[in-house]
Amino acid sequence: MKNALLLLSCFITVQLIAQRQFDQAKVREQISHKETKAILFTLASDEMKGRDTKSGGYYKAADFVANYFEQHNIQPFYPAYRDSLVTDSLVSYNVVGSIGKYVPGKKTILIGAHLDHIGIQENEGDNLYNGANDNATGSTAVIQIAAFLAKHQWEQNILVALFADEEKGLKGAYHLAERLKEEKVNLAYMVNFEMLGITLTTGANQVYMTGFKLSNMEKEMNHISNDFVRFLPQAKELNLFKRSDNYAFYKAFKVPAQTLSTFDFQNYDFYHKAGDEAEKMEVENMNQIIGTAAYTFAEMLRKDTAVKMYPAAVE
Ligand SMILES: [Zn+2]
Repeated sequence: MKNALLLLSCFITVQLIAQRQFDQAKVREQISHKETKAILFTLASDEMKGRDTKSGGYYKAADFVANYFEQHNIQPFYPAYRDSLVTDSLVSYNVVGSIGKYVPGKKTILIGAHLDHIGIQENEGDNLYNGANDNATGSTAVIQIAAFLAKHQWEQNILVALFADEEKGLKGAYHLAERLKEEKVNLAYMVNFEMLGITLTTGANQVYMTGFKLSNMEKEMNHISNDFVRFLPQAKELNLFKRSDNYAFYKAFKVPAQTLSTFDFQNYDFYHKAGDEAEKMEVENMNQIIGTAAYTFAEMLRKDTAVKMYPAAVE
């Protein structure tokens, strides 16, 4: 009887663990190509007027994200998901959601991307800057990953944020980072997505990471998804670590806060040009990356991976 009980309890334990392991193929199936394309093309459409507060398009894009969050069981972290700020006399807001109920003090992971772009410029010809690669692609990734994570229960707090006014000097991210710090959010690490629309020169289903050697984040991600995260020499030379929203969180919390991207300076000629449009995006590769990232996060969360700065790391 005792042996039978022991066997039974072993069996139950194994079942529980087995249930919680993620299957990469199954996760990737849930991140559909059709939806990746639909979100990307919506955010980069002319109707969104380059997602700037001056053009007014930013508010439409933010509403789209808030509605999507609401429909996909992502809770508002602030009322109406809004963390408001004023930049150049215009009100804007980060859209911030929580996967499950936020518990104060508990270990917190933040996933983000900037939603804004540079709107309508005063030049001849096409003057609407749709910002498909920069950063409708990263925003799409965060939205889809959030919806996937919201289907499960997690031991950690998970926050998802779409930042305002990155193009005006990382303003939205700085605002949120300082606010989370004041509110004593126990941030363990942050992952930011920027420009995922064109295949990295080294190969498909790969991203590079900024601040590659600052923490063990790359090693932990590659341990789960082999060869997914690469080192890009230019990212170090140009110190891209400091040039996107991740940096605001590193500065405030001194925890790993890094960006994943595929824009490698060789693969795309339309950075901050009017021609940065949805039709040019390689949606299949982008969809694979989003699926791989979702799986990687799910496994990091399941195993409660410790992501740490290396002691000798200097920014
Ligand atoms: Zn950008």
